[in-house]
Amino acid sequence: MSDTEHRERIAQNYQAVLEDVALATKQGGRQSHDVKIIGVTKYVDAATTAALVHAGCHSLGENRPQVLWQKAESDELASQAIDWHMIGHVQRNKLRRMMRYQPMIHSVDSQRLFDAIGGEAALANQKMKVLLEINISGDDSKTGLSVEALRDLLQNEPHPQVSICGLMAMAGLGSDQSTAREQFAKVRRLRDQLAAESGNPLEELSMGMSGDFAEAIAEGATMVRIGSRLFEGVL
Ligand SMILES: *Cc1c(COP(=O)(O)O)cnc(C)c1O
Repeated sequence: MSDTEHRERIAQNYQAVLEDVALATKQGGRQSHDVKIIGVTKYVDAATTAALVHAGCHSLGENRPQVLWQKAESDELASQAIDWHMIGHVQRNKLRRMMRYQPMIHSVDSQRLFDAIGGEAALANQKMKVLLEINISGDDSKTGLSVEALRDLLQNEPHPQVSICGLMAMAGLGSDQSTAREQFAKVRRLRDQLAAESGNPLEELSMGMSGDFAEAIAEGATMVRIGSRLFEGVL
């Protein structure tokens, strides 16, 4: 396939995802501005990522810090206004350079990482937005905080420059769509409970990927992280 064909295919894929998300949003009785699509670009290089941005997707998710900053600094993307999201495990020694690009970090999976973000944000005198990742399926293979660890983190000393905006979750490995939907409902109920306990509304729910975003939207997702659907026919 030529570059032009790749770009056209990505634009078509993005339009199809927009339509499917809009439909799920309507069926769920939600408002269209309630759900943000994060294009997960971990599968592709900077040039292909730029094709998605040109198609209109300005919120991008990466799962490796060094790839996020390499793309943010690349010729193809440096001049674009991109709303970056970090959705994978973050090592603390990668924080400083990544934080230049002000990503929302969805994958806060330990108190230590949260504290490190607080320390770096204070040093750089920078505000950061984070989500707490919950291991909802209980799979050992999945990262994320347990419910108890999450509750502790919300009760511990806050970092003045770090806003905890909500929760992030993934359905368990091999879950079918109805099991995924039950897990997403569990995340929402847990959020409601933690919000009542902590006084932090935890408004954002980052849940749903290519295979289960409709279920996530039905259960209150405010951000869906969609990768493979956007790059069908290109990878
Ligand atoms: C890769 C990834 C996604 C996107 O998954 P797709 O099935 O390709 O849409 C979403 N969230 C996280 C945390 C990921 O690592």
